[in-house]
Parts: sequence; C-alpha cells; structure tokens
Amino acid sequence: MTRRAIYPGSFDPLTNGHLDIIERGLKLFDELIVAVLVNQEKKGLFPFDERLTMLREAIPSPQVRIDQFQGLLVDYAQKTQATAIVRGIRAISDYEYELQMALMNRRLAPHIETVFLMAGEAYSYVSSRLVKEVFQLGGSITGLVPPIVEERMRQKLDKK
Ligand code: ADP
Repeated sequence: MTRRAIYPGSFDPLTNGHLDIIERGLKLFDELIVAVLVNQEKKGLFPFDERLTMLREAIPSPQVRIDQFQGLLVDYAQKTQATAIVRGIRAISDYEYELQMALMNRRLAPHIETVFLMAGEAYSYVSSRLVKEVFQLGGSITGLVPPIVEERMRQKLDKK
C-alpha cells in the first residue's frame, strides 16, 4: 500500500523551510501531495497559479504531487486517499494553532493522522511572511528561498 500524505499550506511563497519539511517527509511517506489552500479572502502576494508553478519548478521529484484544494482538508485527504497530514513546527507559537487544527481534524476524520516535523535549525526562523517583508524592504533573502522564487520576487518588486 502506498503511504501517501498531504502537506498543506499557503506557500506564499515557497521557502527553503518548506523544502526541508518536504525532503524529510519523503523519508516517512512514499508520496507527498503538496497542496496549496485556495483562500479567496486571503489573496496574498502571489496568485495561486503562480504558487503552483513555483512549487512545480522547485520540486521536480516524482514522489511529490503539487495540487490545490478548497474546503475541508480532511475531505481533500479522503478524496486523494491520503492517510496523513504533514505540518512543520518552528516554535511554541506554531504549536498552539497546529494542535487545535490537528485535534479538530482528528475529530472530523479519526483515521487521518497529523504528523509534525520539527523545523530544521537553519530554517526555524524562516516564514513566508518574514521573507516577503524583508525582501520588500530591500533585504537579501538569498539562501532562504529557492533561486526561482527569489527571481520571481524580484520581478514582482520591479513591476511595482
Ligand atoms: P499556513 O498558512 O498553513 O501556515 P505556510 O505555507 O505558512 O501555510 O506553512 C505550511 C506549513 O509549513 C505549516 O505547517 C508551517 O508551520 C510549516 N512551515 C512554514 N515555514 C517553515 C519552516 N521554515 N520550517 C518548518 N516548517 C515550516
């Protein structure tokens, strides 16, 4: 049986912290579905299509499927026959929210397990939000995001 897990998130944009979780998640699961949450209320910096494109370009692994979803994550997990949800924990501040989500998801779908991976030391302070903020203020984000993401960030900023 294929062990398939979903790694859901906003990925606005993808960071090296996300990539680290994906790499390590692949050691536990045969297949990972990196799923971008389509949230019409929270538009973000990159349109959803562009986030998917960047993910596809940065993660060529055949074990990783890039997709998007709307609605309940557990419904999407059932539809894709995934048995686990992977999330990353950077600090205690992540834990509170993640625990709530994991317990709610367990209540909704008891057979789907949430698996938490601790952030890599090198990336534990990296968030999409902070990367965007630093970049928009002219700081360097080299090494924090994949080069193709940095390139698209630069294009976006130049356009403004
Ligand atoms: P969300 O909007 O759902 O928090 P994100 O794209 O910000 O989506 O993050 C998706 C998941 O990846 C979350 O579980 C988040 O905690 C985790 N994550 C984000 N950045 C890092 C990082 N630098 N290291 C480890 N995990 C991370």
